[in-house]
Amino acid sequence: MARYTGPSCRICRREGQKLYLKGDRCYSDKCALNRRQTAPGQHGAKRGKLSGYGTQLREKQKVKRFYGVLETQFRSTYDRAEKMSGITGENLLQLLELRFDNIVYRLGFANSRKEARQLVRHGHFNLNGHKANIPSMTISVGDVITVKETSRSSVKIKSLVENSTRVAPKWLDVNLESMSAKMVANPTREDIDLEVAEHLIVELYSK
Ligand code: SF4
Repeated sequence: MARYTGPSCRICRREGQKLYLKGDRCYSDKCALNRRQTAPGQHGAKRGKLSGYGTQLREKQKVKRFYGVLETQFRSTYDRAEKMSGITGENLLQLLELRFDNIVYRLGFANSRKEARQLVRHGHFNLNGHKANIPSMTISVGDVITVKETSRSSVKIKSLVENSTRVAPKWLDVNLESMSAKMVANPTREDIDLEVAEHLIVELYSK
């Protein structure tokens, strides 16, 4: 699968906003945005006013990059969101929030979404007692995620769970001792901590 392999901090600088792509470093003084807030590149400091289209594009890119999703998958998620009842922009964010890799990150079982995706791909988790290794899977209310029995003794997983400082959102009921969690409700827009004008993405895709 194609994926972005360049510097993560460059993405935050491009979007002018912290996207928390690097785990603990993002919460420390070492965050690149604390030191340099200009866009990357030779002319980054001179970035002028964005056009209407440019603003819509940047909002879309920001969400894609926050969740680590590439264009094709993002577009198909948008198409699903459009078919659901309710507000398309909020549906889109909710579907992205319900991705398996994002939930593993939210639970504190990984330092970043990138790391969560890798752990899922490597088969460290079970979903409702069955092996699940597809990061884009949509998790539903009532689903139970557990760290696989054989992975519980892994030094990496143990250290991630024991050193996790993030608090899981209220729509996830996590038990760090048993390394398991249950999704107890759907996340609402207020639960999603990303500053984005999602209606601009809908406007962009509706052209
Ligand atoms: Fe973004 Fe984290 Fe890099 Fe800061 S440290 S710029 S939040 S990826």
